[in-house]
Amino acid sequence: MKFLITGGAGFIGSHLADALLARGDAVVALDDLSTGSTENIERARGHASFEFCEGCVTDGALVGRLASECDAILHMAAAVGVRRVIAATSASMDVNLRGTQTVLQTADRLAKPVVLASSSEVYGKGHRIPFAEDDDVLLGATCSPRWSYAGAKAVGEWLALSLAREHGVRVLCMRLFNTVGPRQTGRYGMVLPTFVRQAIRDEPLTVYGDGAQARCFGHVRDVVACALRLFESDKAWGTVVNVGSDLEITIDALARLVRERCASSSEIEHVDYASVSEISIDEPLRRVPDLSRLRACIGDVPTTPIEHIVDDVIARVRTGVETA
Ligand code: UDP
Repeated sequence: MKFLITGGAGFIGSHLADALLARGDAVVALDDLSTGSTENIERARGHASFEFCEGCVTDGALVGRLASECDAILHMAAAVGVRRVIAATSASMDVNLRGTQTVLQTADRLAKPVVLASSSEVYGKGHRIPFAEDDDVLLGATCSPRWSYAGAKAVGEWLALSLAREHGVRVLCMRLFNTVGPRQTGRYGMVLPTFVRQAIRDEPLTVYGDGAQARCFGHVRDVVACALRLFESDKAWGTVVNVGSDLEITIDALARLVRERCASSSEIEHVDYASVSEISIDEPLRRVPDLSRLRACIGDVPTTPIEHIVDDVIARVRTGVETA
């Protein structure tokens, strides 16, 4: 098959491209290189079945032309990272809303199946752990730009599911939980690449608040494997599916683990939320996926232990490829 991957030079999109090429599929990667990079697609570029197109996912004519040559669309393009969303809220909402609308309208017009990358942010401040796909969502106030990302992703899901119901478009929404691994940049505030970079430089590890907040970190390799298996699962189409790991760790424990695996002498510094602007004041204390639906669709879910994930990220940063 030939896949159009929007955001194909991004963190997750480029890993998807590598996996598809490795199994013999062809890939067209569309990316505006705003957060993606040509380094991410270095390996893919050596492949005869790979094409790269620099452009924006909001360009309907371009998306239409590329999609018409492909069998399916994997829509991964988005303005990501809490820091970026807060710094440029209207621009990130534009890409996230209009980009998704462009992709879905194209899929509808050309009758192509589309996989949509949504986010666990959609659960917002929900406190019924674990989060199941049909749970109510609890977003923060609109005066807090942080929640604009969740709002845009939720609207994208509504659009997708309504097109599936009303026009019979084949859509699959993946709610991705914290995904980490090689190629993820710390530039936009993501915690694991930030801690690893700090530990390697023996700088203080900046834990926000008391570090009791917890997350489940999924290796990008596992997330990609789940995405490809979901694509093959008849049960997944027309639904929303949580994708990620359900192994929980507090941010404080993550900081200690990173320091230990790096053999670093870094201090662990607890940074007051107030001094990191409104990024985290309002953040969810826990975020754990209910993976029952994912398991019902694909069977066993690969979950690489956090120690191995941390080692993979350290190895990548140590090679100097990850500079930010
Ligand atoms: N975090 C932290 N220090 C940092 C960056 C993030 O303590 O330098 C915390 C952040 O407050 C959150 C968790 O790490 O509780 C995960 O943050 P990330 O931005 O990676 O993902 P999020 O879960 O916010 O989408």
